[in-house]
Amino acid sequence: MRKKIITGNWKMNYTVNEAEAFITSILESINTTEIDVVICPNFTALDRLSNLLDNKNVKLGAQNVSYETKGAYTGETSVDMLYALDVEYCIVGHSERRQILNETNEIVNLKAKKLLAKGINPIICVGETLTERNENKLYDVISNQVKNGLKDISSEDVKTKVVMAYEPIWAIGTGVTATTEQAEDMCKYIRNIVCEIYSESVANNLRIQYGGSVNPKNANEILNMENIDGALVGGASLTNDFVAIVNYQ
Ligand code: PEP
Repeated sequence: MRKKIITGNWKMNYTVNEAEAFITSILESINTTEIDVVICPNFTALDRLSNLLDNKNVKLGAQNVSYETKGAYTGETSVDMLYALDVEYCIVGHSERRQILNETNEIVNLKAKKLLAKGINPIICVGETLTERNENKLYDVISNQVKNGLKDISSEDVKTKVVMAYEPIWAIGTGVTATTEQAEDMCKYIRNIVCEIYSESVANNLRIQYGGSVNPKNANEILNMENIDGALVGGASLTNDFVAIVNYQ
C-alpha cells in the first residue's frame, strides 16, 4: 500500500513573514499522519519554516537545487544547504523551469541524483504540452522524460525515495484539470515504464502524483484513482483550499 503524498508548491509567492503567517494559520488543521504532506516555499522562507515545522506533520520541501556541489555558482543553492535546513523533499524538473529556464532532462537527472546522494527525496516532474498531446506525441514525450530523468538511479532509490509527478503543462495554473481518466492513464503509463526499466516491485512501490489545477472539488476523485498516489498543488496550496485537499477523504 503506497502512502499518499500531497505537496504544496508555493512557487514565487509569500515573503518569509507571509509564509510564517500562512503556515501558522493552517498547521493545526493538518494533523494527519496517514498522508505525507509537504510544503515547498521559496528558498528565503525555508529556514523559518524549518523551525516552525519541526516535530509537526508537515514536511519541508524545496522548489529547486543545484546539481553542483559548492563554489562559484552565483544564485544557486546546494543540497548541503537544503540538508542543513532539514529539507526532506525537492521538486525537480517543474515545467516552469523546463520551459522558462531551459532545464533539460539531463539537468533534471543530475539534480535528482545529487539529492538522492544526500538522502533528500526528489519529486521529478514530467508532463506534455497541449500541442504534444494533440499531435499524439505525449507517450513519447513522457517516456523520454521518465527514462532520462531516472537514468542511473538505483532501484532502491526509485522504490523508496523518488516521487514522480505527472503534470500536463496545459493543466498547470489554467483552471483546466485533466480528466481523472487522462490523469490515471498517464500515471499508469509512467508506472509501466518504471516496471520495464526496473521491476514490478519497484513500480508498485513508486509514488506518482498528479498535478494541474487540483482543488477541493476534484481532489477526492483524482486521489482515489488506482495509480495516483498524491497531488502536486500550485495555486490552491496558497489558500485554505490546501487544507481541504489534504482532508479530501
Ligand atoms: C504546479 O505548479 O505544479 C501546479 C500543479 O499548479 P496548479 O495547481 O496551480 O495548476
